[in-house]
Amino acid sequence: MNRVLLVLVALGFVINSWAQVDEREKLRELEIQRQADKQRVIDRQIDSVALLIDTEQYEAADKKILNILRTVKSVPSDLTFYLGKNSYYLTKYKQSVDWLNKYIQLKGTSGQFSEEAIEIKRKAEIELVKEKQLEAQQATVIFSKDFDIDCGPTGKVVCPVCNGSTVIIKKGYFGDTYKTCGYCNHAGTLTCGDYNKLLKGQLKPATN
Ligand SMILES: [Zn+2]
Repeated sequence: MNRVLLVLVALGFVINSWAQVDEREKLRELEIQRQADKQRVIDRQIDSVALLIDTEQYEAADKKILNILRTVKSVPSDLTFYLGKNSYYLTKYKQSVDWLNKYIQLKGTSGQFSEEAIEIKRKAEIELVKEKQLEAQQATVIFSKDFDIDCGPTGKVVCPVCNGSTVIIKKGYFGDTYKTCGYCNHAGTLTCGDYNKLLKGQLKPATN
């Protein structure tokens, strides 16, 4: 009788621990399932980003990408590619090179988009060089206002404000009003000194 009881208790233990293992296994499967569902949602969002880029809706693609970036803990490699590609079309070349580099680092030359990534990166780098050249050019622009202009032997220049007419016409609701040009004061011409002052914004008009 004692023996039977012992066997029953032992059997009870075995069944109980089976149940526990079973429970843990179920939880693990549920977690895997949850992760897979989340991944599917992200994949679908990335697919719609690709579609937006293909249909040249770059601003909308940008918004969608930013939304995805807010929800993921780590950026999927495909998204690094699309972010780099879309940035190129948004003319954000520095950002484009940065993300395409990420994709190329992750996937090397054998990734699904490697070839395209390398090609777009090359184009973005060319645009970056152009931008830098333009910046350098603008830094060395020489403006005429920084120099005194020689007006020639007459020493006079036709007044650029009134075009030599000595009057300034103002359009108004109640018809045009005519005013004497305050810059050349009935002369229609400026002395070279006044002309240079005018160019530098330093010539004050006479008030009447
Ligand atoms: Zn004038």
